[in-house]
Amino acid sequence: AKAAGRGGYAIFDGDMHVQAMKRMQLEHDLRVAVAQQVFALHYQPIVDLKTQQITGFEALIRWDHPTRGFISPDEFIPVAEETGMIAPISRWVLQTACEQAAQWRSQWPHRHHLRMSINLSGYDLRQATLVETVQHVLTQTQLPAHILTLEITESMLIEDIETAIERLLQLQELGVRISIDDFGTGYSSLSYLYNLPANYLKIDKSFVSQMQLGNTNYKIVEAVVTLSDQLGLAAIAEGIETPQQLNWLEALGCELGQGYLLSRPLSTEAATALLSAQST
Ligand code: C2E
Ligand code: CA
Ligand code: CA
Ligand code: CA
Repeated sequence: AKAAGRGGYAIFDGDMHVQAMKRMQLEHDLRVAVAQQVFALHYQPIVDLKTQQITGFEALIRWDHPTRGFISPDEFIPVAEETGMIAPISRWVLQTACEQAAQWRSQWPHRHHLRMSINLSGYDLRQATLVETVQHVLTQTQLPAHILTLEITESMLIEDIETAIERLLQLQELGVRISIDDFGTGYSSLSYLYNLPANYLKIDKSFVSQMQLGNTNYKIVEAVVTLSDQLGLAAIAEGIETPQQLNWLEALGCELGQGYLLSRPLSTEAATALLSAQST
């Protein structure tokens, strides 16, 4: 690029310009999507690795863009966080997932243990109103608090651990459960971890996908399962794609798991059909 001289710089500037335009377009389209609430939730089963029973679902947001098709949340959630649009998005996710969980409960009363997890962003966790909002939605949907799990990433905690702990304590007082997502990727201090108000540790899928008997990733997974045991938390393995991974995780004593092997994230209709098939 250096050899390109002035022309090279012009191209570089042009690239920056294209990037900025793309980003502005995405931000604009996202604003429209938020206003029109065109998002959907897909639900991925969380499975008890011993019994293979579905214990609950993780709600994952989907945005079907009018011209680009499905855009990954990994692309638009960061934009939503930077612009504050994450607030109405998270509110919608919370409301929609709780309504769905309440509906499944009334449809199959004997499956009253079925849980619902949603993902929160660091922005949400910093809002003092979060606890009130969650309480409000639980009351409105008549969903028992213990059915709802809030997933927060390990990296969110590191940003401001004091505020995070305080907020998590308030949420736990409501009765909702807390899951530490992407665990192992954020380098949180072990001493904080011991005092963390949480119920689940989710082992990041990067470790699970690269597990080979006895290799470093295998040992990391083993260590995290042991750690969660000592902390009194249940371990959830993400991204289980092969029977081999499933067997290893089960043998290591990991309680819960998610992944394409068990089920992909499902539309509301597909998740309802799955529950229906299992409930008859
Ligand atoms: P995450 O919370 O770690 O979610 C797990 C991601 O792994 C999901 O991607 C899921 O579809 C995918 N996945 C599940 N099983 C497998 C598997 O076996 N193999 C592989 N390779 N992937 C698997 P998705 O739905 O694209 O979401 C990506 C990320 O976007 C999520 O990571 C989460 O951080 C964020 N996200 C998704 N929905 C929401 C939401 O409603 N609110 C917020 N704040 N963030 C969300
Ligand atoms: Ca998650
Ligand atoms: Ca994760
Ligand atoms: Ca992630």
